[in-house]
Amino acid sequence: MVKINCRICETRLTNQFLDLGFSPLANSYINKKKYFKEEKYFPLKVYFCKKCKLVQLPEHEKPDKIFSNYDYLSSPSLSWLKHSEKYVKHISRKLGFLKKKIKVCEIASNDGYLLQYFDKKRFEILGIEPAKNIARIAIKKKIPTISKFFGVNLSKKIKKNKGSFDLIIGNNVFAHVPNIKDFTKGMEILLSSNGIITLEFPHILNLINQKQFDTIYHEHFSYLSIKTVNFLLKKFNLEIFDIEKLPTHGGSVRVYIKKIKNNKIKVKKIKIKKIITMENKYKIFSISTFEKLQKNINKIKEDFLNFLVLKKLENKKVAAYGAPAKGNTFLNFCLVDRNLIQYTVDKADTKVGKFLPGSKIPIFSPKKLIKSNPDYLIILPWNLKDEIIKQLKKMGVKTQFVVCIPKLKIIK
Ligand SMILES: [Zn+2]
Repeated sequence: MVKINCRICETRLTNQFLDLGFSPLANSYINKKKYFKEEKYFPLKVYFCKKCKLVQLPEHEKPDKIFSNYDYLSSPSLSWLKHSEKYVKHISRKLGFLKKKIKVCEIASNDGYLLQYFDKKRFEILGIEPAKNIARIAIKKKIPTISKFFGVNLSKKIKKNKGSFDLIIGNNVFAHVPNIKDFTKGMEILLSSNGIITLEFPHILNLINQKQFDTIYHEHFSYLSIKTVNFLLKKFNLEIFDIEKLPTHGGSVRVYIKKIKNNKIKVKKIKIKKIITMENKYKIFSISTFEKLQKNINKIKEDFLNFLVLKKLENKKVAAYGAPAKGNTFLNFCLVDRNLIQYTVDKADTKVGKFLPGSKIPIFSPKKLIKSNPDYLIILPWNLKDEIIKQLKKMGVKTQFVVCIPKLKIIK
């Protein structure tokens, strides 16, 4: 076993959470066939820290290599846009007590998918997005955006130039930063004394209970529980004061955070304790749970391969929908390639014409489905399956839909 230490508490990591074999970086889509041979594979082994309970992946590539030209755009998903608009309304009401112009900073603001909903008369907004190609799109939409990685250094610079912020937002970024301590300290520095932070991240409870192992990929460094997040925050004089469960990404949580010394906001202790009790009840910190999960996902792989091989023998056409990072973990863990799935389609123009990392399945525009009408269509972003099926039926696509997680299911 590699000698690595926990990214929060420095304890030597000796326990394995899951082993997903080897895989390229989940967002390293291949531009051209001639680059197939150059693909780099990394182990996808997840560890568990017995002290602070953080489930984590070691860092194999530097973040600037992973995130500086990211193909992921938030805006294409309608349900994600609706979710963001709802959040802005919700938080604008919640922050009503702050009468002056409220300063909002979103970390990993992508193309401005969320900040665009803030009323510019009441809010002064700032986005931080390290992927330069995506930050440029936000700036074009007149959303002030800094294209740098967030951490202590950047937060000090922003504070010097613009002062502190009343609301700091981080959606699906907290689990994606390798140096989660530097990131947390950075937020503490930038936050005004009365301000609040909201973070959304997938809850590890759902990963375990719903067998969502495909949410594991190299860009996703930490798999978070409330117990561990509160442990980390307290190291930097921050604490959770409220929690909401969300349906996004197969089951996420939104935590509301304040400075510990801010006594004006009350901590909803019962609500927080209830979630931690759930975490304990499902034994999410126990080795036997991890072993059971590994057995379960091996079974998912076996069932999926049996299905694909059978359909090939029957001469059926099988395609996939979507090119999300999670799909790449799934396909690569199952050792599927274009012999078994002919192609996939994705709405993001940045992905069309490329190939999925590892499986090397070509990506086309969804229009291809209308002409090709595959017999089976594997929906890789299972969390959006209802939205996708509805859209495709409306487009006139005739196929049988298949989802594989938590188990293989055919939807006619
Ligand atoms: Zn630890």
